[in-house]
Amino acid sequence: MNFDFKDPLEGLPPLKTDICDSHVHIWDADAFSDLEKWGHMFGVKRFMGIAQPDVKKTLEQNGKASDIVFAYYLPMQAFAEKKPERIVEAVDEAHSLNYSLTKTWFGPRQIDFYNTEKLVSIADPIFEPVFSRIEDYGLPLDIHVADPDIWYSTKYQDSERYRTKTQAINEFNEVLERHPSLKVISVHFGSLPEIHNLIKLEEIFKKFTNFYIDTASTKWIVRELGKDPQQARDFIIRNQDRILFATDLSVGWADRSEKYFPTRYWAQRIFWETNVRKVKLPFSDEDNLNPPTFINGLNLPQSVLDRFYWQNAEKFFK
Ligand SMILES: [Zn+2]
Repeated sequence: MNFDFKDPLEGLPPLKTDICDSHVHIWDADAFSDLEKWGHMFGVKRFMGIAQPDVKKTLEQNGKASDIVFAYYLPMQAFAEKKPERIVEAVDEAHSLNYSLTKTWFGPRQIDFYNTEKLVSIADPIFEPVFSRIEDYGLPLDIHVADPDIWYSTKYQDSERYRTKTQAINEFNEVLERHPSLKVISVHFGSLPEIHNLIKLEEIFKKFTNFYIDTASTKWIVRELGKDPQQARDFIIRNQDRILFATDLSVGWADRSEKYFPTRYWAQRIFWETNVRKVKLPFSDEDNLNPPTFINGLNLPQSVLDRFYWQNAEKFFK
């Protein structure tokens, strides 16, 4: 089996639930129609969209308010440069503009993007007013905490500069400890989809009842969980209430090939819904040190798919 652009649903079982894509980036209101078109084809009826205020406003004027739950991107530069007042102002704006969530990103590359002297820790007490304000408003936080294990052993070998993945994860856990009512989605499977990390991830689920994860970044998730489909499947079944389907697709930022949307939706649906083995991922995975990346399907039970595709998002974003 292979992805076929002429028949993009090939190999997929009939879908028995609606899908919410709980992590997309909408940089331009007009560009949303591409994502919407391809999403609909694969059964996506709702999106959690990260969008700037002007983009959100235009989409609402275009009648899209009921299709999109909006997240406000907090200023990353203000985190990198340790300017909490600026971030608190942004949280206030998110609240006053009726956003449903806040979003932030804490990848180690922050230090390269903003050319700061030292990579900041999310647990730095200077950011306490930010998380307290988010918690006070009852705004959930969608957050990128760390990067693939592979990156730490390739691009981030300088652990003085980029710090370690364990540090990043532990520091975010400190924030969760201080803010027990803060509801979070830690994206990319909590940054821990590597099979050996699932034990750690399950401990976090047990410790923090407001902690959820999404399945965004198709290649990272499919590559790592697919290394041991049985363990991955058991893990998802045990934690089925805390996982939200998502892609991290992005529209309006850069020109994308027409295959960008359908290949991600197809690969994820094949991965979750079927028991295929060694189907080639239909797009490149430059992170894989032993290419190509294959899809080894998890064949999740229907009751789990119902939660994971729709009910968990419905509950979380209500
Ligand atoms: Zn994202």
